[in-house]
Amino acid sequence: MRIILLGAPGVGKGTQAKLIAKEFNVCHISTGEMFRAEIAKGSNLGKISKEYMDKGDLVPDEITTQIIGERLKCDDCSNGFLLDGFPRTTAQAEALDKLLNEENKTLDKVVLINVKDDIILERIIGRRTCKQCGTNYHIKFNPSKLKEKCESCGGDLTQREDDKEEVVTERLVQYNKLTQPLIAYYNNKNLLSSVDGTLSVDEVFHEISSLLIS
Ligand code: AMP
Repeated sequence: MRIILLGAPGVGKGTQAKLIAKEFNVCHISTGEMFRAEIAKGSNLGKISKEYMDKGDLVPDEITTQIIGERLKCDDCSNGFLLDGFPRTTAQAEALDKLLNEENKTLDKVVLINVKDDIILERIIGRRTCKQCGTNYHIKFNPSKLKEKCESCGGDLTQREDDKEEVVTERLVQYNKLTQPLIAYYNNKNLLSSVDGTLSVDEVFHEISSLLIS
C-alpha cells in the first residue's frame, strides 16, 4: 500500500504515521525526521536544511525530492510506504508522480488530517520531543510520566527549535500557501479522504485504518 498523510504541522501526522505504518506493515518515511537526522549527524545536507527549518521555511524542492527519490528505492519500501510530511508543494507532488510512474506504481490513498490553526498552535507550542528517539509528548495533553524525560528511552525532552511560536506561525503561513493546494491536487485524482484530527489519537487511528481498508 502506498499512502500519503497530508495536514498542517501539528495535526498529529507523525503520531498516526507510526501507528498506521506498523498496522499496515509499510515503511514510514518522514522528510522532517530525515532532515533532523542529517542535522544530528552534522552533514552538509543537515547544515543546509537547518537554515531553512529554523526559520519555518521549506527546504528547497530539489533537495527534498532527491532525498525522497533515493529513500523510495530502498528495499524496505517494497511492501509500500507511508509518506509523512512529503509532498509539501505541487512541484514535490509532481516529482513523486513521476518517480512512481517510472516504476509503474500508483498511490492508493491520500489522507488529510484536519485541525483548525488556533488548535494547531496550542498543540505545537506545548509539544516536547525526545532528543534520543523522537517520541512526542505535550505539556498539557500528553505529559511524560517522567516529567522532562522520555517514557520509552529515558532521553531528554526538549522543544524543537521550529516548534517555537514565531516559527510555528511562519510554518502555518507556508502550509496554507504552498501545501494546501495539494488538497485539490489529490482530490482531482480521486485519492483524497479526510479525517477530523481533533478526535483522540485512537479515534483518528481507527478512522484512518477504516479508510485504508475500504
Ligand atoms: P516536519 O517534521 O514534517 O514538521 O518537518 C520539519 C521541517 O522540515 C519543515 O518545517 C521543513 O522546514 C522541513 N521539511 C520537512 N519535509 C519537507 C518537505 N517535504 N519539503 C520541504 N521542507 C520539508
